[in-house]
Order: sequence, then C-alpha cells, then structure tokens
Amino acid sequence: DIDEPTQTLVDLIDDSVRRFAKRPALEFFGAETSYRGLGEQIARAAEGLRKLGVRAGDRVALILPNCPQHVAAFYAVLRLGAIVVEHNPLYTPPELRHQFEDHGATVAITWDAVADTIADFPRDIRPKHIVAVDLTRALPLLKRLALRLPIPKARESRAALTTPPRARGVLDWERVAGGRALSKRHPRPTLDDTALLQYTSGTTGIPKGAILSHRNLRANAMQGQAWVPGLREGDEVFYGVLPLFHAYGMTLCLTFAMSMGARLVLFPKFDVELVLAAAKHTPPTFLPAVPPIYDALSRAAERRGAVGLLSQVRFAISGAMSLPVATVDRWESTTGGLLVEGYGMTESSPVAVGNPMGPTRRPGTVGVPFPSTEIRVVDPANPDEDRPAGEEGELLIRGPQVFQGYWHRPSETTDTLLPGGWLRTGDIVRVSDDGFVTIVDRVKELIITGGFNVSPSEVEGVLLRHPDVRGAAVVGLPRSSGGEDVAAAVELREGAAFDAAALREFCRKSLTPYKVPKQVVQVDELPRSLIGKVLRRQVRDQLLAERA
Ligand code: ATP
Ligand code: MG
Repeated sequence: DIDEPTQTLVDLIDDSVRRFAKRPALEFFGAETSYRGLGEQIARAAEGLRKLGVRAGDRVALILPNCPQHVAAFYAVLRLGAIVVEHNPLYTPPELRHQFEDHGATVAITWDAVADTIADFPRDIRPKHIVAVDLTRALPLLKRLALRLPIPKARESRAALTTPPRARGVLDWERVAGGRALSKRHPRPTLDDTALLQYTSGTTGIPKGAILSHRNLRANAMQGQAWVPGLREGDEVFYGVLPLFHAYGMTLCLTFAMSMGARLVLFPKFDVELVLAAAKHTPPTFLPAVPPIYDALSRAAERRGAVGLLSQVRFAISGAMSLPVATVDRWESTTGGLLVEGYGMTESSPVAVGNPMGPTRRPGTVGVPFPSTEIRVVDPANPDEDRPAGEEGELLIRGPQVFQGYWHRPSETTDTLLPGGWLRTGDIVRVSDDGFVTIVDRVKELIITGGFNVSPSEVEGVLLRHPDVRGAAVVGLPRSSGGEDVAAAVELREGAAFDAAALREFCRKSLTPYKVPKQVVQVDELPRSLIGKVLRRQVRDQLLAERA
C-alpha cells in the first residue's frame, strides 16, 4: 500500500541485497559490484562512520560525483539513522560554505577535489571529520572529464584537481569504510525519521533544504513501481547519467532502481562518448534524463549508425524542465522506445505527475497525478480559492511523497506547506477534462507587461522553433513606467548569423504584440544549472547589468 509504506530505505536496500545477492548492483567504468558486495560495503562504511561519532539525527554531507562510494555512503549514513545531505560536487567554496552554515553537518564525505575547501572552512562551520574519496588519483579518466566540464563554476575544482596533497586531518574513505561491519543489532531508523536534507536547485533563489523522511522517499519509489508497467525485477539496466545529488537522479537511481534489483551503471558526468562506449557491453534498458541528453544521444547515435546501442531502452523518462515534442519524436524514431515526461520538485521526493508509460501518454503534457497523489489548481494570489475546471492556476499537490518542511525556515515552510498537507508548487498549470496536466510556467517567472501576463516558456518555445536558435531564455525587465518589458537572450546554432530584427519578426508571426520580445540579445552560452535548467534569474541580472 503506497499510502502506508512499511519499509524504510534501509529495509529497502537490505531487502534487495537479500533478494538479488549475486546480481550486479553497480557498474562504474566496467567494474561491477554485486548487491551482496554493496551490502557489505554499506555495513563497513556504517561502522566506520559510527566510529567517527555519527549518531542518529546527525547530518552527514556528501559532496561526490556519481561513483560507487556515493551509493555506499548514502545507505551507510541512513543505516545509522543519520541524515544524508547531498551537495553539488562542483559548487564553489562560497556556495558550499552557505550550505554548511545552514545544515551544520558533523562529517563530510567528499571527493578529493573539494576536501581542502572544506578543511579551510572557519572553525564554527567546519565539520568534525572530513573523509575524502580518492577518485582523481584512482581514475585519470575522471580527472580528464572534470577538466572538460563546461561549467564556469568548475574553476575552483579544477585548481584543486591539480594540487593533490591533502590538508592535514583529512581522512581516507578506504580506511574509514574498509574495516569491520556494523553490528546487525545497531538500532535502525523508523519511517518518520528524516532520511535526507535535499537542497532545491536554486533556480528562483537561494537553495532551501527540503526535509524528506524515509516514508516520503519509500513512497515515491513505490509510486514509480506502480507507474511503470512490465518492470523486470533483477534484470533492468539503469543508466545513472543524472547527478545523484539532485532529487531526480537520487530517487530514480538510488531508491527506485535499487528497489527492483536493477544494475545501475554510473557516470560521473553525462558524456556522449562514455555512454555509447558503455552501451557496447551493457546496453541500457532504462534511461532517466533531461531533454538535452536525449537530443545529444539520439543525434550522436544516428550520426554514427550506432542506433542499435540504444534500442533496448524501453523507458526513457524526462523531467526537471519541459520536454520539447521534437525531442520526443527524434528519440522515439531513432531508438524505437518510449520517451515520456513527468513532473515534480524536490519538495515532493520528487515525482508527483507522470505520463502513462504507453500509447495513452500525451507529449506536451506532464501526464496525470501519480498513484496516491491528489492535485488542485488554485488562485496563486489566494491558494484557498480553487480555479474553475479547465482554467489556469497554481498547482497544489498532496500525497505521501510531500516533504516535511524546510530546514530551519519556518516561514517558508508555512508559505509552502498549507494546512491539510497541500504543497504549493509555485507552478502555473492547466488541467484538461480528462486530467492531463500542462505546465505553463513558474508563478515567479511570469512577466507582467501592463496588465497582461506573459509566460516566458511560451515565447521561448516560439524562438526555439527558429532554425538558427539552439537555446533561449525570456525574462521581464522592469520599466521605469511600471510593469516589465519582455526581453530574450538566445544561443545560436553553429554558423548562424545573429539578426535581432529577424528574430522579432519571426516571433510576431505566432505571438500577439505584447508577447514579442522588445529586446533580443545574443549570448555565447546561457547560464544553466548542473542538471541543465536555464537560469532565467541570471539571464535577467545580466541583461539588467548591460542596460545600466
Ligand atoms: P528553487 O526551488 O530552489 O528555486 P527549483 O524549483 O528549480 O529551484 P527543483 O525542486 O529541482 O528546484 O525543481 C522543481 C521545479 O522544476 C518545478 O517547480 C518546475 O518549475 C520545474 N519542473 C519540473 N519538471 C518539469 C517539467 N516536466 N516541465 C517543466 N518544468 C518542470
Ligand atoms: Mg522550487
């Protein structure tokens, strides 16, 4: 029963270790770990962390790319009843510092590249112990990959990568996690205990720590199982190209995949070459990802006549941002498998709405509420007021996957978690007569132009149909007379020449005049989060700075 899960995440992994003992759980650059092996690693790591003083309720920070140690550390922390706090491993020192100030973790498990950053934190926020996982020295390939990361934030990590010697007091993961196993009698967490402090993506502001219980996360994995038909227990091959530190990758790969005894092939970073190389010996059957990844893979596979490598993917699940119908068409005609879109947020563990996995799915929508999930559409200015059927409004969600509140942020919690257990999503949606949800935009990002609201996604959608445009971000810039002007930043395809007037003319063909961007500028690269969301907030700041 999804509404009343009986297993914590610790029970979930113990169960899989028992049931799928000899089956492969993890694969990383060709090296395999069985479920039994993973179970042993978790027990040893748990004992090592216990010896470092980790107790139930303590926060333990994980700052790791996708790697086997990430999985073992995740479940070891949970086994102790402690709380996992995930971090973007490419965050800069100030960003990490902000998070540590917020959660007060007592132990940090980190990759080499940032161990020194943590060691340099001021005393009051520095964790008692820092444990470093040696990925850079063990894996030259990973180092090369990290150096190729296109994200500007990687600069600091890059510096750290070239200076391997460790700060004093930084412990070695293999030592900490390589001793005896934790006693089987050690107390276990309960369903209502917090499992994870999962930070939101920070798309609209500073990331907030969402408190997710074992019950929340177990429920979302069960909802996933009820959603996907024909799963083959012990036989699916998941490709872990999404970062495990983000709610989406975490649930799909760490709880959902592991609850069905899947083999999880881990990638420290999405890379077309790595994925196609791995697919030669272990073809994926299940691929959760985001639209740019599906585009890149289907293009590359077509170009090289390597389409067969992707032909066993029965389920491709896209989320986190809107999925263009063109991406669906290309993926499905290339691979012959289904690409369906779901929707969710960190605060709902994260999946809340999903398209049926079959012919009734509807591209362009995010589908129907997940099993055991209720939705409402309300007036964003007054969430007590339901909108008439079929009208746009803010989406509210209720279900066993809805979070417990934000860490140390009581007022944001009461703003977001309404009486009766309804979660405010901050997203404007439309629901069809037969219950399919279409995401219109975020409430915070709607542009107010003299009385009319403009949805940036709608305008971006038009720009993206122009053959020269590869990426677009549409934002509102304040006018001195009040209201906002619609402005757009575009990324062009290789070889295309920028012509603002032509792009505005193109928009005019499909949009009423007040929606047509007053200003169109070209950028080399739009700012994106690590999972690939365009950060409109940063685009807006850039355009404002240029105007000033
Ligand atoms: P923050 O809350 O810190 O500003 P964030 O909302 O981006 O950041 P997440 O919890 O990772 O952090 O993302 C949830 C949001 O992602 C949703 O509220 C929605 O706006 C967007 N989203 C998720 N899935 C989809 C989808 N399929 N289509 C469009 N938008 C989506
Ligand atoms: Mg959010």
